[in-house]
Amino acid sequence: MKRLKGIGVSSGIVIGKAHLFKKDGLVAVRRSIKKDEVGLEISLLNQAKEKTRDDIYKIRGRILEEFGKGFADIFTVHLALLDDPLLLPKVKKRIEEDRVNASFAFSEAVKDAISNLIFSNNKQAVRMIDILHDISEKMLHCLEEQESFTLSEIKEKVVLVVKNLTPSETVQLSKEKVAGIVCSLGGQTSHAAILAQALRIPAVLGVHDAEDTISSGDTIILDGISGTVIINPTPKDRQFFEEKIKRVEKDTKKRASLLHLPSETTDGHKIKLCANIELPEEARLVKEEMVEGIGLFRTEFMFIKRDGMPEEDEQEEVYSMVARKSHPHPVTIRTLDLGGDKLKFVLGQEEENPFLGLRAIRFCLKYKNIFKTQLRAILRASSKGRIRVMFPMVSSQEELTNGLVLLSEAKEELKREGIPFDEEMEVGIMIETPSAAFTTDLLAPLVDFFSIGTNDLIQYTMAIDRVNPELAYLYQPLHPAILRLIKVIVDVAHKNEIWVGMCGEMASDPLYATLLLGFGLDEFSLTWGAIHKIKEVIRTVSYKEAKRLAERALLLDSAQKVEALLKKNFPTELREMIKK
Ligand code: PEP
Ligand code: MG
Repeated sequence: MKRLKGIGVSSGIVIGKAHLFKKDGLVAVRRSIKKDEVGLEISLLNQAKEKTRDDIYKIRGRILEEFGKGFADIFTVHLALLDDPLLLPKVKKRIEEDRVNASFAFSEAVKDAISNLIFSNNKQAVRMIDILHDISEKMLHCLEEQESFTLSEIKEKVVLVVKNLTPSETVQLSKEKVAGIVCSLGGQTSHAAILAQALRIPAVLGVHDAEDTISSGDTIILDGISGTVIINPTPKDRQFFEEKIKRVEKDTKKRASLLHLPSETTDGHKIKLCANIELPEEARLVKEEMVEGIGLFRTEFMFIKRDGMPEEDEQEEVYSMVARKSHPHPVTIRTLDLGGDKLKFVLGQEEENPFLGLRAIRFCLKYKNIFKTQLRAILRASSKGRIRVMFPMVSSQEELTNGLVLLSEAKEELKREGIPFDEEMEVGIMIETPSAAFTTDLLAPLVDFFSIGTNDLIQYTMAIDRVNPELAYLYQPLHPAILRLIKVIVDVAHKNEIWVGMCGEMASDPLYATLLLGFGLDEFSLTWGAIHKIKEVIRTVSYKEAKRLAERALLLDSAQKVEALLKKNFPTELREMIKK
């Protein structure tokens, strides 16, 4: 028996036989060519591009049909990259100038593009690398005339063990053949993770030793919830996981029974539970999961897929679709949160300090046309459903005012053009910088709501890069500084008669739910997996107790002491939820 740990990215527990899939890892060997061979290499490159494009096009079509535009858009990025003026033209130049074979020139260009992204820790860069690898593998297989990834050799249902899966490989998997996926690379935000969830195949990624430790035929227990992989389990392990499978089934039933119940404390205090989404397609879950709307729609995904920006009509279509799917509940569209690091992927011109750089509203106020296009699209969609708009990373009143001026201009333009929009559309801001948190009294009179973005608020308050693992110990949602800030934000919002929600990850942790409730938050916007848990906690506690707990927490001098207090007061019957 051996136990490996990775990142559970697609939930579900399976017990099955391993199938180790060794990818050949094509390496393009440098070959010098003569002048008269240049034309041939370039035509091979063009043929490979056409073949790759056809393949991706087919995959995209299938995904569009089965899972919708949000997922299909992953492959739109592939298509856009194939036409990127910085990719193939660069390869041609290299073939001509360095007189090297097409496959070598291509793999070098991809390496360059990846090296420009590799130190960027953000999700979009990781995803772009994923897509570059995918295109690279497809192109190299064509150029080297080798057969690409296929699972035709698999005859029975297996747990697939493989180094990594590109997006186009992941979508080839079917639930009939693949019970679960174990990859040694990849993580929560990779396309393989997103697509495995869509395909509903349990998956654990980032299991470092998987390929060296697992052999085909081994019995595997894969727990996509905790990220555990057990090889050749003992009868005791097997029994443990069989029981866990039963518990998960029970949990699923419980979840279903909670769906129709209100998120209300035992003493009748109601709280709105909404969801965070990144892909427009996720909006369909609003009805399935019975949430009260979308508290955060991150719109960056549609902006990173190409060189140019999406047109107003295209954006309007997406926002309207999300609003329609969420109806009658509201959708909170966050305006672009792109940063210098996120935009210039392939160009590789990064800012020294992207998290402190030209990000979010700062970027939008510099590139007003991009911002205006998005605002017009949001306004146009507001006539098709309930839409709210929200500006991220506001750090001064002036910035907010400038954003509001552009919004008014967009409204005036639409009026002149006779295009309808919701005149009453709510406008809010994310509170995610200490400067905004300390000046909520200056900001509140200008908006309809606040949404606390704890992911950034913690990063900027604690002065730590939120994705730096070395500093994870300082990422403390319960730090007295954070708790005091949340308290001030909520109190000032209410004093100014506006509502306040939280869409940062902190809201999705059941351990913190009673405390946040006690602070007086009006809306929690959560990751999908957290909704039923937070609802259950809310339905188990009283608002009166929650307020008392929040008062006590504010008197403590360390995150550790607050955590101990929350654990001690966590509803006994729900303790299973906070076992990490
Ligand atoms: C946040 O900062 O808490 C937030 C929700 O925004 P993002 O994670 O997209 O920066
Ligand atoms: Mg943020």
